[in-house]
Amino acid sequence: MILDARQIPRDTVVEADVCIVGAGAAGITMAREFIGQSFKVCLIESGGLEFDERTQSLYEGKLVGLPDHDLDVARLRYFGGSTNHWGGSSRPFDPSDFEQRPWIPYSGWPITRADLDPFYERALHVIEIRDVTWDVASYMDEIPAFYRLPFMGRRLAPAIWHKSPPTRFGRLYRDELIRAPNISTYLHANVTDIETNDPASLATRLRVACLDGNQFWVGAKLYILAAGAIETVRTLLSADKVQVTGLGNGYDLVGRFYMNHPQMDAGVILLSTPDNLTATPAAALGKTTAHLILTEECIEKERIARFRALLYPADLEGNWVRGKGYSAVRSIFRRLRNAEFPHDLLGHVGDIIRDFDGLVTDLANKYGDTPGITINTEYEQVPNPDSRVLLGPERDALGLNRVNLDWRLTSLDKYSLRRSMEIIGEELGRAGVGRLRIDDWVLSDDLSTFPGTGAWHHAGGTRMSADPKTGVVDKDCRMHGVANLYIAGGSVFPTGGIANPTLTIVALAIRLADHVKALMA
Ligand SMILES: Cc1cc2nc3c(=O)[nH]c(=O)nc-3n(C[C@H](O)[C@H](O)[C@H](O)COP(=O)(O)OP(=O)(O)OC[C@H]3O[C@@H](n4cnc5c(N)ncnc54)[C@H](O)[C@@H]3O)c2cc1C
Repeated sequence: MILDARQIPRDTVVEADVCIVGAGAAGITMAREFIGQSFKVCLIESGGLEFDERTQSLYEGKLVGLPDHDLDVARLRYFGGSTNHWGGSSRPFDPSDFEQRPWIPYSGWPITRADLDPFYERALHVIEIRDVTWDVASYMDEIPAFYRLPFMGRRLAPAIWHKSPPTRFGRLYRDELIRAPNISTYLHANVTDIETNDPASLATRLRVACLDGNQFWVGAKLYILAAGAIETVRTLLSADKVQVTGLGNGYDLVGRFYMNHPQMDAGVILLSTPDNLTATPAAALGKTTAHLILTEECIEKERIARFRALLYPADLEGNWVRGKGYSAVRSIFRRLRNAEFPHDLLGHVGDIIRDFDGLVTDLANKYGDTPGITINTEYEQVPNPDSRVLLGPERDALGLNRVNLDWRLTSLDKYSLRRSMEIIGEELGRAGVGRLRIDDWVLSDDLSTFPGTGAWHHAGGTRMSADPKTGVVDKDCRMHGVANLYIAGGSVFPTGGIANPTLTIVALAIRLADHVKALMA
């Protein structure tokens, strides 16, 4: 059943057994897992079924650290959440991502990859990726020639990413949730406070507010915050009536260890002989993409964070050989392939006409010879307590403090990137394939600026740890110290690895749903 929160009588208390806050990848996944159970579930979603500006503006905030996408652009606040515009690139975290690496401070999860394996299987179904393997050997004949050169394997290797269609959670799973008798979804409903008992050891009810002024309460036995990494932190820090530093923040950890994947062009490979070694990886494999990574042995020997990059045909200046015309054609085709009407069709046609010469060159470069290869990286960020989601002084339309995002990198992040690029250069030189021109910023010691952006992958802020002194949730994603409050989403990641986050977010959500089902039985 779907209900409009604006119609709920003011100040009433809606009762449920389990309350989920946020209908994005994590929230919808869990609600689906609860369909048909004997307990009552209430799914609280800030937005409606479609995008609207006023609700979206609740996501505005300030970037007070490194540059990134604006906070109201990097997320979507309506049914389906940010999956309404995610790209679908997917890969599970590798076993080593879960391990404690002595050279990476704060690394190590309280669970292993084997603990998550069965849930990854189920999560792949949710994001509509079927019958795939992550074993690169199965794709060796198809991946671009660059990855088959003899120098691959020792320190550098290809790794496989698969693409979800991408699954639009809101659209695909809406009807199932509407039909489910035990699931009530409230739209236009913003959780603005979490009330607790006096020692803040038990959540007692949630305050829900609508932009039209209505407000009511939700009382449940068990609550799950699934509002996205940054908003989940904001909700906890805003719930400060009993625990004045924010709910669950006894050790000043809520909001700390915020991570993203720093994304930038880090350099350009100048090939000894212009060749079509790169011919776009995605094009070669359809829904599967090959990325360049450093091998586990190399990472361990060098004592650095993990690295991955996509390789793009480039001119000798390292510029991506992609103009507006090419991007427009890609956009139109991507939409059509997903049976969606292309947004801004007229604008795209205009771009194609205006950039027709560029489009012809881009296509020639894509399918012909190219002199260079741009290395576009999204690398692992080392956990850093000073990289934080904070509450700023400004308030939104519901009276909540907006977010100040203080995203920061460390010297180990910088060293890891520089070393990764040097290793690529060394291997290319050894093999006589070409030379590497590394971006000036990568070679500098400057940590105050960043020439790229985050890769839309918000993580950390309520990290998972067995010890309440080093993390906000335990291995079951339950908040340390608050018996009936759980968190689903990327905020629980202790480290961010090199894989895109959503597959792991969905796997963890299914694992949490199983845990809740067992508790409620
Ligand atoms: C442009 C873009 C491209 C991306 N591409 C990829 C990709 O290729 N691969 C990948 O793995 N990931 C990708 N991502 C990231 C992916 O979208 C997120 O990892 C994923 O959506 C996170 O799921 P979530 O459920 O934690 O949060 P969300 O999907 O953001 O859902 C959170 C939900 O909570 C609701 N909400 C927020 N606050 C409240 C409140 N106070 N009360 C009630 N409801 C609330 C929101 O409206 C929203 O519906 C991309 C993201 C962007 C922006």
